[in-house]
Amino acid sequence: MSSRGLLVVIAGPSGAGKTTLARHLVETFPEAVFSVSCTTRPARGSERDGVDYRFISNDEFSGLVASNHFLEWAEVHGNRYGTSGEWVRNTLAAGGSVVLDIDVKGALQVKRAVPAAVLVFVLPPDPAELGRRLSGRGTDSNDTVSKRLSAAAGEVALLGAFDYFMANDSLASSSVGIESVYRAERMRLASQSWPSEAVSYHTGVFSGLSAWKGKRVLVCSGPTREGMDDVRFISNRSSGLMGLSMVNAFLDAGALVTMISGPCRHDTPPGSVPLIRVETAAEMLAALREAVAGADFLVMAAAVGDYRPKVVMPGKLRRGDGFLLELEPTPDLLVSLDAPCPVLSFSLEYGPDCRERALEKMLKKGSFAVFVNRGDIPGQGMESETNLGELIFADGSSAEVPGGSKRFVALAIAGLLGERL
Ligand code: ADP
Ligand code: 5GP
Repeated sequence: MSSRGLLVVIAGPSGAGKTTLARHLVETFPEAVFSVSCTTRPARGSERDGVDYRFISNDEFSGLVASNHFLEWAEVHGNRYGTSGEWVRNTLAAGGSVVLDIDVKGALQVKRAVPAAVLVFVLPPDPAELGRRLSGRGTDSNDTVSKRLSAAAGEVALLGAFDYFMANDSLASSSVGIESVYRAERMRLASQSWPSEAVSYHTGVFSGLSAWKGKRVLVCSGPTREGMDDVRFISNRSSGLMGLSMVNAFLDAGALVTMISGPCRHDTPPGSVPLIRVETAAEMLAALREAVAGADFLVMAAAVGDYRPKVVMPGKLRRGDGFLLELEPTPDLLVSLDAPCPVLSFSLEYGPDCRERALEKMLKKGSFAVFVNRGDIPGQGMESETNLGELIFADGSSAEVPGGSKRFVALAIAGLLGERL
C-alpha cells in the first residue's frame, strides 16, 4: 500500500535557517516539495514570482482569506503571508511530502488544522549569531534586521508546542539532523498504511482491497446529538476516528467515497471526499436516504444515539430544582433505511454475550457483515486510537481482526470485505 506524504513545518525566527533547511529537504528527498507561500511583501533582489513566493496585493490576499483559501496565514514583520490549503491537501493525497517554511504562529495554526503535521523549530546558537546571519544574508535593511531580531525572543517562547528542536549551529550537522527527522517520520507506522514488505505476508487480505477499485462507498460516521434545549444535548463518546479510518482505507483501495458525519473531532476526510454534516439521528437518516442511492456499499460506523428528549425546550433551561427528562427512542437507521446495497454495521458491545447480541442485531438490520468490538476492554472502541475485534458475516463465517491503529484495522476490514464481495 502506498504511504501518505509528510507535512513538515520548519519554523523559527527570521534568519534561523528555515529556508536553507527546507531547500535541503526538497533537494534530498525526491517526493518532498516546497510550498510556495503567498505574500503581500514586494519581491526582493533575485526573488521570482511563483518560485520563492506568489507576490500578491493586499486586496487579493484579503479575498483569499475570505474564501478560506489558506491552511494558515499570519502577519509577520508588517506583511501578510499564507499557505494554500488546497494545494497542500492535494499534494499530500497524491503521496507527496510538503515542506513549509513559515513563521511560528503559522506553524501552530497548521498543527491545529493537521494534527499529523511534523513541527520543527530551528534556532542558531545565540542571538548574536542570529544577528550576524540576518545581516550576512544581505537582503534586509539595518532597521528590518533589528525588528526581526527583537521579535525572536517572543517566537522562541512558543517552542514548547513543537515536535522537534534543531540547533542550527554548523550547517553540516543541522542538514543531517533535518534528514534524520524526515527519515524517522517516514518510518512511523502512524504516518503510513501497510508497508509493501508487510503486505507480501498477507496477500489474501490485500488482494481483497482491489475489489473496491471504482466502487461507490458511503461511510456514515461519528456520534449524533439530540437537543434538550437550544444549548444542551445528549450524545456519546464516539470520536469519529474509526469512520474516518474506514474512509481512508476505501480511498487507499481506489473506491469513490462519500462521508456522512455527525459532530466529532475526527471528521475531516481528504479534500476529494464529499462530506455531509448532520447532527441528529433524524438528520442522519435523511442524509442516508439521499446519499445511499447509487452507492455500491454502505459502512455504518456511526454511533447513533438510541434515545432523544421527547420535547426540545426552546431557549435555555434555567438552573433550578431537578426535573425528569423524558426520552423516546430514535429511529433504527438501518431498519428504516432498508439499504439497496450491502451494509457493514458496527456493534460496540459490553459483557460476555457480545457476539450473540451482535449477530442478532445484524440479522435484524439485514447487514452483510458486522464488526464487533468490546467497549469494556481498554484499547477498543470509542475514544481509543486503536481497535480490534471480529468481523462476522451474515453467512455465519467470521474473521479475527488483530489489534492496531484504527487506520490499520480499517484496512484489514476493507480487505476482508473485498475478499467476500
Ligand atoms: P530563514 O529562512 O529562517 O529566514 P535562511 O535560511 O535564509 O533563514 O538563513 C539565514 C542566513 O543564514 C542565510 O544567509 C543562510 O545562508 C545562513 N545560514 C543558514 N544556516 C546556517 C548555518 N548553519 N551556518 C551559517 N550560516 C547559515
Ligand atoms: P521573508 O519576508 O524573510 O521571506 O519571511 C518572513 C517570515 O515570514 C519568515 O519567518 C517566513 O518563514 C515567514 N513566512 C513565509 N511564508 C509564510 C507563510 O505562508 N505563512 C506564515 N505564517 N509565515 C510565512
